[in-house]
Amino acid sequence: MAKQQDTFKQVIAHAKEYGYIFSSSEIYDGLSAVYDYGQNGAELKKNIKEYWWKSMVQLHENIVGLDAAILMHPTTWKASGHVDAFNDPLIDNKDSKKRYRADVLVEDHAEKINQKAQKEITKARKRFGDKFDEAEFVNTNPRVIRYKKEEKEILERLAKSLTEENLADVKDLIEELGIACPESGSKNWTDVKQFNLMFGTKLGASADSATDLYLRPETAQGIFVNFANVQKTGRMKIPFGIAQIGKAFRNEIVARQFIFRQREFEQMEMQFFVRPGDELKWFEHWKETRQNWHASLGLGEENYRFHDHEKMAHYANAATDIEFNFPFGFKELEGIHSRTDFDLKAHEEHSGKKLQFFDPEMNKNYVPYVIETSIGLDRMFLAVFSSSLKEEELEGGSTRTVLKLPAILAPYKAAILPLVKKDGLPEIARELMEELQWDFNVSYDEKDAVGRRYRRQDAAGTPFCITIDHDTKEDNQVTIRHRDTMEQKRVPISEVKNIIAKEVDFRTWMQKGK
Ligand code: ATP
Repeated sequence: MAKQQDTFKQVIAHAKEYGYIFSSSEIYDGLSAVYDYGQNGAELKKNIKEYWWKSMVQLHENIVGLDAAILMHPTTWKASGHVDAFNDPLIDNKDSKKRYRADVLVEDHAEKINQKAQKEITKARKRFGDKFDEAEFVNTNPRVIRYKKEEKEILERLAKSLTEENLADVKDLIEELGIACPESGSKNWTDVKQFNLMFGTKLGASADSATDLYLRPETAQGIFVNFANVQKTGRMKIPFGIAQIGKAFRNEIVARQFIFRQREFEQMEMQFFVRPGDELKWFEHWKETRQNWHASLGLGEENYRFHDHEKMAHYANAATDIEFNFPFGFKELEGIHSRTDFDLKAHEEHSGKKLQFFDPEMNKNYVPYVIETSIGLDRMFLAVFSSSLKEEELEGGSTRTVLKLPAILAPYKAAILPLVKKDGLPEIARELMEELQWDFNVSYDEKDAVGRRYRRQDAAGTPFCITIDHDTKEDNQVTIRHRDTMEQKRVPISEVKNIIAKEVDFRTWMQKGK
C-alpha cells in the first residue's frame, strides 16, 4: 500500500514537473478535483483524442461524429433519468468528518478479499512452476474458494441493496463487514444518503425568469437527442454509430484520486444503433473492438481486466467495465453498455417526436437498440501516463527517469539538439527542425551538455533525439537516439523524416492490437 502511494505521488509530481498537469487556479491554492493540462499534457490529451477518433470514425464507414452543446434543454435530464436517479450513496464518518461513497467502501473491501485470493494463486504458481494449472487450483483450493465466495456474496448483496434502493442495508453491510474509515480507523458511521451529482446553473438574466439548467453529466444524451438529425441528414442505415468527445460535469462526493475522478472531465463516447434483438451480438463485437484498441497501445496486457456488472443500470441488459491497473489499483477506465431502447424511447415520450428508423429489409419502423462505449479521456491519460513512467537502473549504477509513452501519443516526436551552440550547428539544426515541423511536433534544445538534454527528453517522453555534431557538416549525417533502448545510430539527414514517420504510423499502431 505504502509503495502504491509512493508511486502515485511520483506520478503526480512528475506530471507537474514536466508540464503535463497542474491544479486548477493553483495561484489561489487550487480548486478541489479540478485540473489544468499544461503544455505537454494538452498535446498528449489531443493525441489520445485523435487516436480514438480516427479508430472510431475514420476507420468506420458507418460511424460519424458529433459535437453537441454542453447546455441542453432541461427536459433532457428528466427523460434520461438523471434528475431522479443520478445519485451516489454517500456516508459520513462521524469522527473523522470524512465523506465517502458507501458503494466504493464496500467494493474496496471486496477487492481486498480478492487480493488475498490472488496472493494464494501467485504463491502456488511459484511453488508448482510450469505444472501449475490455475483453473484447477482456483476450483479446488479451499482458501481461494472461500475468498472468492466471500467476495461474490458481498458484491451481490451490495448490488441487490442498491438496485432496491435499500440504503439501510448498505449501512448494515458496512457495519457487518467492520469497514473502518480509511483515514481515521473509526467505525462510527452516519446513515447512507443519496446525493445528486448534477451541477445546476441558470439560463437568463433575471432571477425570476431564469430557467434551471444542468451542466451535462455525460455526453451521451447529446447524441440521443440528435439521433434523427444525424440519421436523416447523413442517410445513415442501421447499424450505425455516432461518436463524440466532450466535457462532462459531476459533483463527485469523493474526489481524491487526481485526474481519475474529477468534477469536470472529458468523455469519448460512441452510441451504436442496432436492430432490436441484435444488441448482444454487437455488445460482444464492441467489447472485442475496444479491447483491441487498448491492446494496440501496448500498455501491458496484465494492466487490464474486464469486470462484468453485477448491478446493472435499470435500462441496461448487459454491461462491462474495462478496468485498468492505476497506481491505486484496478479501477474502471471504460464502460461498455447495452442500453436497450431506453434512451430513445424516453426522449420520444418526453418530446413527442418520433425517434425511429424505417428498416427497408424488415419493412417496418422501430426504435433502435443501443450499444455504448464510453471512456474517460482523463482516465485514459492517467492510464497511459502512469504506466509509462519508469525508474531505470543503468550500467554503472546510475538511474534514469523515463516516460515511455507510446510514440504515437507522445507530445513531441523528436527533439533536435545541436551538439554545441556555435560552428554553424544551430543553423543546420534549425533547418532540420523547419523541415520536420510540417509533419510532426518537434522541439529544439541547445542548452546544457547533450547527456543532460537526453535525460530531460527521456523524462518528458520524447521518443527520439536527433543530434547534429561537427561531422554532420562533412557527411550530412546525424545521430538518432531512441528513448527506450538508448541506442544511437548515425543516419543521413534526409532519412530522419521517414524514420520518425514509420514509428508514429497510425496503421502500424492500430494493427498491433490484433
Ligand atoms: P465511476 O463508477 O468510477 O464513478 P461511472 O460508472 O459513473 O464511473 P460512467 O457513467 O459509465 O462512469 O462514465 C463513463 C466513463 O467516464 C467512465 O468509464 C470513466 O472513464 C469516465 N468518468 C466518469 N466519471 C468520471 C470522473 N468523475 N472523472 C473522470 N472520468 C470520469
